[in-house]
Amino acid sequence: MCLFCDIANHKMTEAHIVNETEMTISFLDIAPANEGHVLIIPKMHVDSIVDLPDEYVLDITDVSRKIIKAFGKVYGAKGYGVMQNGGANCEFGHFHFHVFPRLENDGYDWIYPEGEKEVSENVAAKLREAMIFGNENKYKQMID
Ligand SMILES: [Zn+2]
Repeated sequence: MCLFCDIANHKMTEAHIVNETEMTISFLDIAPANEGHVLIIPKMHVDSIVDLPDEYVLDITDVSRKIIKAFGKVYGAKGYGVMQNGGANCEFGHFHFHVFPRLENDGYDWIYPEGEKEVSENVAAKLREAMIFGNENKYKQMID
């Protein structure tokens, strides 16, 4: 059992829960990027989206949309951010999906500068190539 399993099982009562479904529980991040920063976690201890059953991924997507709509109502947020670190980089070893509101002049930004155009094209090409499983890569087919 981990901290997030405890939250999913309502054993960690300090968590500020904002939503719960059969498959997920959502609560405020204790170190928020912005006020309203929510973590959506599956009620299943996996550290990667690769190991997460499709229905959990769909539930996380559905819940994230609802939370993003709530950001608009609560903060008047016109934008949002989502983030997910997985595998060996998954804190607590329990999948969690970050969703946070973006506000005008909130100062949040990527600090890693975008690479040269050629570097970016090379990276994009390698990622597209790596995503080909059979004939599934419709994007590559579109641009070829
Ligand atoms: Zn866990």
